[in-house]
Amino acid sequence: MTKVVLIPGDGIGPEITAGVTRVLEKAGAGIEWVEAAGGLGAYEEFGDPLPEETIDKIKEHRIALKGPLTTPVGGGFRSVNVRLRQIFKLYSNIRPAKTIPGLFNKCGDVDLVLFRENTQGLYSGLEQWGDEAQSRAESVAVVTREASEKIVRAAFDYAVHHDRDKVTLVHKANILKLSSGLFLKVGEDVAKDYPKVGFENIIVDNMAMQMVMNPQRFGVVVTTNLFGDILSDLASGLVGGLGLTGSANIGENYAIFEAVHGSAPDIAGQNKANPTALLFSALMLLDYLGKPDLAEHIRGAILAALADENTRTGDVGGKGSTTTFTEAICAHLD
Ligand code: ATP
Repeated sequence: MTKVVLIPGDGIGPEITAGVTRVLEKAGAGIEWVEAAGGLGAYEEFGDPLPEETIDKIKEHRIALKGPLTTPVGGGFRSVNVRLRQIFKLYSNIRPAKTIPGLFNKCGDVDLVLFRENTQGLYSGLEQWGDEAQSRAESVAVVTREASEKIVRAAFDYAVHHDRDKVTLVHKANILKLSSGLFLKVGEDVAKDYPKVGFENIIVDNMAMQMVMNPQRFGVVVTTNLFGDILSDLASGLVGGLGLTGSANIGENYAIFEAVHGSAPDIAGQNKANPTALLFSALMLLDYLGKPDLAEHIRGAILAALADENTRTGDVGGKGSTTTFTEAICAHLD
């Protein structure tokens, strides 16, 4: 048995993590879950949204599957997601968005993998008021050569290993000449080490339009933190919504897997949440553990359950619930 930390999280988190652990157990994944607290629930219970005990458990077991954690808007505590990425140096946030045949095809066949720098940029936590009246706010975006190089190399390495012919780097170096300019310069330098993989760069606003108009143009995309956050939600929209896209946060020594979506408080506790995004994240976890065949087997069962309107959840046009969908996947695993 491999021990993996499980943070059920807030909102729909407990419902979808229950679905995922049920499916993985049914599939014989050989995982022993070590439960840990995090998010708004942990803040209310322990006075800390990221208790020391949770950090210690991740340090010990090195791998975690995390449900969504609510981050208060405006004031309140700092994002636990961002803190985890910074504490464990999870520099690479990998967010695939792939069309599921027969489910949602408004945008044609999309097969994008977005690499988002995960520890810096405007998420560096360097914010302050510019005056006492709090009428001026300042945020500092930190971009280093080292972190940029790591994420760009991760994107190129992925392209090499998955036979992708091109990496697209997204930036805003025409305006943010230093922070985005450095990221672009590093990308151009790293690209020279991968002569067999094509390289292009594109300004983020144009990218947003191109992804909608012609998403087939893109395969592997790499960008800075905030642009990656926004464009990965856009990519989710191209393939049928946030209920369908998983992600991996990978560093040298630790890895945390989570859905792209948030805690969806509007549907929490109603058995309506789609666990597919967290399931796809769990499949990335199985890949990471060296079990790609098992991941493929489970993927087949998920796709079969998604194909049935009666079992899939409402966000993807179905009549089912979190539990009917989970049970349908388990039935397909047999
Ligand atoms: P947070 O503050 O935690 O980011 P949010 O509501 O701002 O939460 P999301 O949780 O990402 O953002 O939700 C955006 C929309 O997508 C909501 O309407 C939500 O119900 C829907 N949604 C997100 N995840 C799922 C899911 N797994 N299944 C069904 N609908 C979902």
